[in-house]
Amino acid sequence: MKCPKCKSELRNVTFDVGYGVNVESSHCEKCGFNITEDNKLNAAVTSLQEHMSKEIKIIKVGNGLGVRFPNEVVKSLNLKKGEEILLKPERNGIKLVVE
Ligand SMILES: [Zn+2]
Repeated sequence: MKCPKCKSELRNVTFDVGYGVNVESSHCEKCGFNITEDNKLNAAVTSLQEHMSKEIKIIKVGNGLGVRFPNEVVKSLNLKKGEEILLKPERNGIKLVVE
């Protein structure tokens, strides 16, 4: 495969997106152009999501209830104290959206 920008030969590389999940992509050493096939990227994202899925306990927070995020999730999403995230009820659970 040739680089669409500078026509150099692309080199296949894998990069680590965390949790030992690797994504294959084609990289141009000359101009830095990078192509990752969507299906490979999606597979890596799915795998990463599975790695990050964890059972957590509901704990008491003040007069209400809360959950504690695992440290690796805090790090990976760069969550900060006081930050607002969106809680979205879904058919099969709750989704937390970090913006
Ligand atoms: Zn190039």
